[in-house]
Amino acid sequence: MSTNNTTIAVAVAASAVALGVGYVLGTRIEANKHWNDEPKICDTILDHVGNTPLVRINRIAKEEGVDCEILCKCEFFNAGGSVKDRIGKRMVMDAEKEGRIKKGDVLIEPTSGNTGIGLALASAVLGYKMVISLPKKMSDEKVNVLKALGAIVKRTPTDAPCVPDKDVRDGIDGQPYSHIGKANKIMNELNQAKPGQAHILDQYANKSNPLAHIEGTAAELLRQCDGKIDAVVVSAGTGGTIAGIAYKLKKHLPNVKVIGVDPYGSILAETGANKIINNSNGDSHVYPGDTSFPANEQNKGKAEFGYQVEGIGYDFIPEVLEGVPGVNRADGQEKGKSSKLIDYWVKTQDREGFMMARRLMRSEGLLCGGSCGTAMAGAIIACKHFKWGKDKRVVVLLADSTRNYMTKFLKDEWMEKYGFTPTADEPQYTPHDDLATLAKQSKELCDLNCKDTWVEQHAYESSK
Ligand code: PMP
Repeated sequence: MSTNNTTIAVAVAASAVALGVGYVLGTRIEANKHWNDEPKICDTILDHVGNTPLVRINRIAKEEGVDCEILCKCEFFNAGGSVKDRIGKRMVMDAEKEGRIKKGDVLIEPTSGNTGIGLALASAVLGYKMVISLPKKMSDEKVNVLKALGAIVKRTPTDAPCVPDKDVRDGIDGQPYSHIGKANKIMNELNQAKPGQAHILDQYANKSNPLAHIEGTAAELLRQCDGKIDAVVVSAGTGGTIAGIAYKLKKHLPNVKVIGVDPYGSILAETGANKIINNSNGDSHVYPGDTSFPANEQNKGKAEFGYQVEGIGYDFIPEVLEGVPGVNRADGQEKGKSSKLIDYWVKTQDREGFMMARRLMRSEGLLCGGSCGTAMAGAIIACKHFKWGKDKRVVVLLADSTRNYMTKFLKDEWMEKYGFTPTADEPQYTPHDDLATLAKQSKELCDLNCKDTWVEQHAYESSK
């Protein structure tokens, strides 16, 4: 009998062998030669942030009739399980170096969870108290990890707008109730009680956010690809990842195409210098609660936000996405617009994102989160739109791990609840064709329930 982890390892290895990775493994390790060059002792777990592997997509591109090479930057290998570990570590270390914070202080951060985990990880190692304000939509898995890292977690209503003038729902000024508003309130109260003890490092405007990607993620990509990158596809939340990567890559590769992925319900795909590839009605301003917004149709009657995918999309343009002056700001950048360095956006719906995340696991063995599926769905749309051929290389950033969503999109029941059931021509959650064939050869597989096993075990034990 195998342990659960062994089972997962075997499943991942099986999909790798099925892909024929065994033969090419040598060349791939060569291609990724900068990743974790030598096994070493880490002084702390924070040393295991960054230097993530770049993995080739094999089956999905072929199945979709996409000829170009697609490589995934697997950020779920960071110590805390997401791309946001990079900024969590960097924001704390930079603030410490610049004397803005001192050990024992309280750090408060509004987050969709992963920045919180990155910061809580850094705080646990470096000695800070951590308070997280987190919209209700975000998974219990994230909450439990945050608590395990010693953070105090304050939940906020998911649909409370982040900036008052962007609330299009009922003219309600909900900003003070958003995770951003609440974090400010907590900081002010703590500092009234004990001046100078509490700080918001503020991922939405902190230069350390894009810097972590300029000096980290993008620099790694250039090394891993030996400078051969034709396009990069990234889903955006604060926009620090995409606008940081865009800034660095465009410096070295002026022709690289940067493509943002943004769920319907978010306004990050602002028009301006950028184009929306798959926007049929020409309206990029789709707000949470807008009844014309397609994903909302599926979620009609549900109390919360229009889309379920976590960590991406917003109702305002964060400064790190617009571009921080002197760090990642494009020349002639307009205030309140997403970065001019992003060439195109793709708008996505929950279903395509979650189905693609499941497919990334099933077909490629990549145990990633929902925003990763969304990014890959956007990448496939872009590859088809531009008809990129064999000579093109596209990098897709996979931001976090499926372990954040064990009770959400990883569960068949959750997917079915939101109407994300596979159609007849999509792979079924249980591979029924395989089961039908194998069950003819194995009596045990005729009924997957454990009842028979239990009855057998009892019969055996009582016979002893
Ligand atoms: N995907 C997930 C799962 C995230 O948590 C985040 C960060 N909120 C992102 C993508 C986007 O990263 P960024 O904030 O740098 O745009």
